[in-house]
Amino acid sequence: MTPASTAPTTGAPTRARDTDTHCPYCSLQCGMRLRPTAAGTGGAPVDGPPVEVLERPDFPVNRGALCGKGQSAPALLARGVRLTGPLLRDRPGGPLRSAGWDEALDRVAAGLAAVRERHGADAVGVFGGGGLTNEKAYQLGKFARVVLGTANIDYNGRFCMSSAAAAHRRAFGLDRGLPFPLADLPHTGCLILVGGNPAETMPPALRYFRELRENGGTLIVVDPRRTRTAEQADLHLQPRPGTDLALALGLLHLVIADGLVDEEFVAARTIGFDRARAAAMAHWPDRVERITGVPVAELQRAASLFGCAATGMVLTARGPEQHSKGTDTVGAWIDLCLATGNAGRRYAGYGCLTGQGNGQGGREHGQKADQLPGYRSIEDPAARAHVAGVWGVDPDSLPRSGRSAYELLDGLGQPGGARALLLMGSNPVVSAPNAAHVTARLRGLDLLVVADLVLSETARLADVVLPVTQWAEEDGTTTNLEGRVILRRRALDPPAGVRGELWLLGELARRLGVPDGFPDDAERVFDELRRASAGGDADYAGISYRRIAAEDGVFWPCPDARHPGTPRLFLDRFATPDGRARFAGVTHRPAGEEPDREYPLHLTTGRVLAQYQSGAQTRRVAELNAAAPGPFVELHPRLAARLGIADGEPVAVVSRRGRAVAPARVSAGIRPDTVFMPFHWPGAGRANSLTNPALDPVSRMPEFKTCAVRVERLPGTAEKVSGGEDRGGRTVA
Ligand code: SF4
Repeated sequence: MTPASTAPTTGAPTRARDTDTHCPYCSLQCGMRLRPTAAGTGGAPVDGPPVEVLERPDFPVNRGALCGKGQSAPALLARGVRLTGPLLRDRPGGPLRSAGWDEALDRVAAGLAAVRERHGADAVGVFGGGGLTNEKAYQLGKFARVVLGTANIDYNGRFCMSSAAAAHRRAFGLDRGLPFPLADLPHTGCLILVGGNPAETMPPALRYFRELRENGGTLIVVDPRRTRTAEQADLHLQPRPGTDLALALGLLHLVIADGLVDEEFVAARTIGFDRARAAAMAHWPDRVERITGVPVAELQRAASLFGCAATGMVLTARGPEQHSKGTDTVGAWIDLCLATGNAGRRYAGYGCLTGQGNGQGGREHGQKADQLPGYRSIEDPAARAHVAGVWGVDPDSLPRSGRSAYELLDGLGQPGGARALLLMGSNPVVSAPNAAHVTARLRGLDLLVVADLVLSETARLADVVLPVTQWAEEDGTTTNLEGRVILRRRALDPPAGVRGELWLLGELARRLGVPDGFPDDAERVFDELRRASAGGDADYAGISYRRIAAEDGVFWPCPDARHPGTPRLFLDRFATPDGRARFAGVTHRPAGEEPDREYPLHLTTGRVLAQYQSGAQTRRVAELNAAAPGPFVELHPRLAARLGIADGEPVAVVSRRGRAVAPARVSAGIRPDTVFMPFHWPGAGRANSLTNPALDPVSRMPEFKTCAVRVERLPGTAEKVSGGEDRGGRTVA
């Protein structure tokens, strides 16, 4: 292990030539080429980005196209934007000050050990992120179970993909976001996109939808807003937030009534259609129109387009998933696919558009509360024995399932909850639901340790901040939304004072009495991950760095070195014990919180083109900030007129949990009973001050996508309306 004092950090390009790698942001993981700039090779300007981004047209997923986030990603590699050394707080409420790595790591190790000694192993919590590489996610899970011995590890992916994952596993026995490559999309006959806006979240993917229509296919978009993606659809269905489940059942009802069920497929490859049929028949068109607000004629057109197409796909994103009934909602859309024979064959099926950069891999290798590497259950004795064998520990020493992400955060500092938290790659002060409450919980901890590349809003609360490397400064794998494992390559050394997460986990493990088993070489960690995943659902055993580089990525499962990988799942059988898919057979139920007299409107939240997730990174990029400088409240002209609100006027949105203030953006593209806020900003305009933490009973996903609010005018207000006060710089005493 490299001692802290001699870790190789020169801040110079590792190579003088170009490096092929991938974007650090969303789950498309676009291929890009990095070329050293004058700043990177020691020339002026010294503070500019050390590399520039070039197209990489040979990578098949994005074929050279990049959005502005990817193009501008090197801006965060420049000095002055990022953290370049550890920070410590000497007393609660005191300022952060600069520290050396040894002092910082000694403080963390001593603090974690003291909490464990005083309150037990589960009093130490670990919170990971869907942006961490597979190697980091794997090592973080191992660190929690082997070094800390805590059950309480979860990650922010619980907030993103967990409902789709749970529904996928329930129906098909396996969860991979897309069971087919993106390249299959243009060849389907009809595609229903539910609650996703790739035109803003992953623009290069839009070409697949365009090509679908050029090939004569039909695109149906389901969204309460007329988004840039919805504008390109043949049919846009605009339901009330929280009613996607009823909408799916209504379409299934019409498919059944119109005789469009694929009886042969249902008989041969599924189980449970009778229950699904009964649920659907209780959702007749008039009833579904009343629940969803979608006119019967549009329901009929959508059912006919999908049911009559030779092949069909349904893709969901966060819109239908981030609900207290997200698992059942996705299940209902899968039922529509199964009833029409649109699963387990070419150019057909259900898929989820994953959000975060490693949203797929991040949920496969052990940073979830209930999971061991390879997508194994931590409660399964055989899985425990296998992974314990790879880790060289007694299976009985491994903790059981811990608390899910929101439950973990909600319990911080409370009786029975964690009193110390190690947090990597996440910014819950902005991204968690009921964020003011979560922030208060974080403030109540005995010890908060944050590893991040910038001083995020959560890092500002920490007792110890550990500055970590970025995508261009490290090797590692991620798994994109297709289940394609890809390789990020180190193009330059990090600045002196910055370390990788693998290295700091090894250093902490050593200080906590586990000297071996935590190397800081990513390929070594990946080779161990391969062994730990062997035989599991997400089997990476046959994938190597060499193969990934040679083959433009390898699709899991890939159980041995001669296996070609699996771009298309379920063609012969589903991954259930008997090979048949399961209908969910679920019925509609209201959201955790519906509008009432006091809070008469739906709030729904989402993303904008120029910002990414909590904005910790993109808010620090000047050109992205110029394009999207702050939050806003989108509302319909009729609602605006009724409330007397003008475009651009600051308004307050109020829910039972809090209040957010931002300028009104009047748009005819949104339902009159709904307001929309993007969630990228902290401060007064923080959308997650409002959101409801009601949890899905299966996935434990919070209900980000709908809650009850009212909108208030602020005539003559002096309130600050921008939430973008944290756009860079750091505060160090
Ligand atoms: S679409 Fe996603 S992966 Fe591609 S450049 Fe944009 S943010 Fe990066």
